[in-house]
Amino acid sequence: MQIIDGKALSQKIKTSLKEETSLLKDNQNIVPGLAVIIIGDDPASRAYVGMKAKACKDVGFYSIVHEMPNSITQEEIIDTIKMMNNNPRIDGILVQLPLPNHIDTDKILEVIEPKKDVDGFHAYNVGRLVTGLDSFVACTPLGVMEMFKKYNIELEGKDVCVVGASNIVGKPMASLLLNANATVTVTHIFTKDLASHTSKADIVVVGVGVPHLIKEDMIKEGAVVIDIGINRLEDGSLTGDVDYQNVAPKCSYITPVPGGVGPMTIAMLLSNTLKSATKRGL
Ligand code: NAD
Repeated sequence: MQIIDGKALSQKIKTSLKEETSLLKDNQNIVPGLAVIIIGDDPASRAYVGMKAKACKDVGFYSIVHEMPNSITQEEIIDTIKMMNNNPRIDGILVQLPLPNHIDTDKILEVIEPKKDVDGFHAYNVGRLVTGLDSFVACTPLGVMEMFKKYNIELEGKDVCVVGASNIVGKPMASLLLNANATVTVTHIFTKDLASHTSKADIVVVGVGVPHLIKEDMIKEGAVVIDIGINRLEDGSLTGDVDYQNVAPKCSYITPVPGGVGPMTIAMLLSNTLKSATKRGL
């Protein structure tokens, strides 16, 4: 069994992004810029935004964090996004989810200029992903694909079970896998017999938000298991959606939580922002 070390891999990616950023500045006088909008004071969202801002600084990006109170109106958020759409120093715009209940998330995401949609949530980019065209792809599934690549995990013709079908994790994950010629089964809360699907798969990718949902008897011997889930337990520790201790011995490869997919997500956000910056003005 081999542990897929997302922390080390993301560090390598960030080092090369830093070099590319420095070249972009030297050669074209472009400094990639990322704007993050955060609404309300959810501690988890704040922590994620803090990590993203720090990562930007580490690789030499310009970054701004726009904080708005819970009481903000939808129109005010839309106006702020439009301002950022027109700001030439900003290459990427990210609205930290989830949003307060009185805000229509779909409406907000649709306002982001697709060329600056570094989270890959805009319908334009989702449509391009599904049709196999170049697009901004949601950072978490993109990070998982990078792991497969770096660990030489073959996807073509493999049976892959994706557990969880959200717009930001499961659905784009399934599209990427399908585009890589895997045979993909997507499961979710209404799936009748989850284990019957996971136990047949060569690769299982889980992103649901239920601690230790995936047990050892749901995984076949030698499978690759990717755990996207991040769950905070009562004692404050983080755990994934996979019962890691019991599942790991059966796997050929597995990602830990923390130190697996999480750091890759941030590395992919930086990568998407740099990609946007290299196309600035085009
Ligand atoms: P979500 O609530 O939007 O979607 C959850 C999905 O899981 C849904 O499709 C639902 O049908 C499915 N589901 C829920 N319970 C299930 C069950 N018992 N059996 C089968 N399917 C079930 O959540 P999300 O935003 O997609 O996030 C999922 C998890 O991934 C969370 O733990 C979140 O913290 C984590 N996450 C991690 C990263 C990262 O960087 N590692 C990024 C985004 C989300």
